[in-house]
Amino acid sequence: MATLEIHDLHVSVDAEGGPREILRGVDLTVKQGETHAIMGPNGSGKSTLAYSLAGHPKYTVTGGTVTLDGEDVLAMSVDERARAGVFLAMQYPVEVPGVSVSNFLRTSATAIRGEAPKLRTWVKEVKEAMERLQIDPSFAERNVNEGFSGGEKKRHEILQLELLKPAIAILDETDSGLDVDALRVVSEGVNRVRESGQVGTLLITHYTRILRYIKPDHVHVFAAGRIAESGGPELADKLEEEGYEAYVKGGASE
Ligand code: ADP
Ligand code: MG
Ligand code: MG
Repeated sequence: MATLEIHDLHVSVDAEGGPREILRGVDLTVKQGETHAIMGPNGSGKSTLAYSLAGHPKYTVTGGTVTLDGEDVLAMSVDERARAGVFLAMQYPVEVPGVSVSNFLRTSATAIRGEAPKLRTWVKEVKEAMERLQIDPSFAERNVNEGFSGGEKKRHEILQLELLKPAIAILDETDSGLDVDALRVVSEGVNRVRESGQVGTLLITHYTRILRYIKPDHVHVFAAGRIAESGGPELADKLEEEGYEAYVKGGASE
């Protein structure tokens, strides 16, 4: 069982005017099979946490540890993290001009599995996954995220999740900007992957809405660069009623 352990993580971002501390001591353990919702106000550092775990070069770890089954994740390159089973669905997926969805998926799968997937089964696998996510087959030949709508980008992130089958999935506001139908399709995709029991999920969100479709085992409130409170699903109900106000008093999120 894969276990991601984050201990006292401090991260600074290279901002104009010098480095700025964003994460101020994050502690979190995510085991395969578990779903953790990370909820927090805008600017609290949720994406910084996601990027730091994936190895984005703009974010500098200044303290703490991150391990996956005891292996030092922070010492790994972005590629090594992906091969170790860490997957990030980005809040704002980036365009990859000149690379088709089909090529992108196959290249990713080859890199992560260590060998090219058998063409015949792979084509079928991709086609079926696209059907489940209601992605038009013509998308296979389009360039990654180029001209995709917000909802199409998010469905493409979940397509990767379904095909790459990571040990730890970090989903950064996959629900933002989705209408109800797209939210349901995306949530069903996440739930299919969860049902395998093989993935530990970090579901980062600003809104409680997605938690009607994806039931978390644990809920954490993220504020001012750290986890301010942890609990079960009932904590999300409390947030739904009371919002984040209690956690951001004194402008702590800035
Ligand atoms: P969230 O995802 O919770 O909305 P972010 O992690 O995106 O929060 O941002 C946390 C804080 O860090 C914000 O104040 C944001 O402006 C700042 N920040 C994040 N990334 C950068 C960056 N690349 N350059 C400058 N500031 C950044
Ligand atoms: Mg934000
Ligand atoms: Mg964010």
